[in-house]
Amino acid sequence: MLRQVLLAASRSGGVRHAVESAPFSRGMVRRFIAGETVDDALQVTRRLVGEGLNVTIDHLGEDTTDAAQAEAVVEGYLTLLDRLAAAGHGPRAEVSVKLSAVGQALDEDMAVDNARRICAAAKAAGTTVTLDMEDHTTVESTLRILAELRRDHPETGAVIQSYLRRAEEYCAGLAYEGSRVRLCKGAYAAPDDVAYTSKAEIDRSYVRCMKVLFAGEGYPMLATHDPRLIEIAGALAVFHDRAPSSFEYQMLYGIRPAEQRRLTGLGAQVRVYVPYGREWYGYAMRRMAERPANLAFVLRSLATR
Ligand code: FAD
Repeated sequence: MLRQVLLAASRSGGVRHAVESAPFSRGMVRRFIAGETVDDALQVTRRLVGEGLNVTIDHLGEDTTDAAQAEAVVEGYLTLLDRLAAAGHGPRAEVSVKLSAVGQALDEDMAVDNARRICAAAKAAGTTVTLDMEDHTTVESTLRILAELRRDHPETGAVIQSYLRRAEEYCAGLAYEGSRVRLCKGAYAAPDDVAYTSKAEIDRSYVRCMKVLFAGEGYPMLATHDPRLIEIAGALAVFHDRAPSSFEYQMLYGIRPAEQRRLTGLGAQVRVYVPYGREWYGYAMRRMAERPANLAFVLRSLATR
C-alpha cells in the first residue's frame, strides 16, 4: 500500500515541487545521490574506481516534455562523457540513460537520434551506455530503440525487469554474444496482467531469467541487493563455468556498500549505479517505495536537523 502511494507520488508534479524545496531534501540527496554537479559525480566515481568497483553514472532526469529539455539532457551527458574521457577510467565508468529523458514520449525518432549521440560520445570516451528500463508502457519502444542503436553500437546495454510476465522471453531474445543485459526486479508501478506483483513471483522470475542469461552467450549484469539472488547468481556462474570477467553484479549507490566491497574482494566484478543531478525526486521516491526503512531514514534526518 505504502509502495503504491510512493510510486504514485513519484509521478506527481505538485508533490515533486513540494519535496524538492523541502528542508530535508539535502539529506535524501546525500544518501542515494552523488550530488547535484558533474564534479560531484566524478569525485564519487574516482573514489569507487579507486576501491576496485566499476560505476554506471545516471545524469538524473526523466519524463521530458519538450525538445529543448531533451537537448539539455543530451548536452549534460556529452559534458559528463568529455570529463570521463579526460579522467581515463575507460569502461570502468559507463553511463546509464533514461530514454524518457531524451524525448521518447515526444517522438521515438528524436529519442533514437539523441541516444545515438550519447552512444557515439561514450565510444569516443572508451566506454559504453546502458539504456535504463522505465514504465511498462515504454518497454516495446525501448527494445526497438535498443535494436536500432546496437546496429552501430552493439555494446549498448539493455535492461530487463523480472516483474514483467514476458521477462524470460525478453532475456532469451537478448542472450546472444556481445549482448550486455542488466537484470533487475523492476521499480515502477505495473498492472497485474503485465507484471507479477508478489515478491515470491518476481524473485522466481528473476531466477528463471538468470538461468537463461547465464546459459546464453551474452554478458549478464545482475542488478540486485537481494542476498538470496546474489548467492544463486554465484552458483549459476559456477554451474555454467563462467569466468568472473564474463558477468557482473550491480548495485545502487548508497545501498549495501559493504556487500559491494565483499563481492569485489572475492574477485567478482561489481558496478555501482551512481545518480547525480538536480532532478533527483523521481529516483529518490522509487528508493523510498522499495524500502520503508529508507523513508524512516529521511524522516529521522528531518527530525534531527
Ligand atoms: P528487494 O527485494 O527490493 O530487496 C532485497 C534486499 O536488498 C532487501 O531485503 C534489503 O536488504 C536490500 N535493499 C533493497 N533495496 C534497498 C533499498 N532501497 N535500501 C536499502 N536496502 C535495500 N529498475 C528499473 O525498473 N529499471 C532500471 O533500469 C533499473 N536499473 C537498476 C540498476 C541497478 C544497478 C540496480 C541495483 C537496480 C536497478 N533498478 C532498476 C531497481 C530495481 O528494479 C529494484 O527496484 C531495486 O534494485 C530493489 O530490488 P532488489 O533486487 O534489490 O530486491
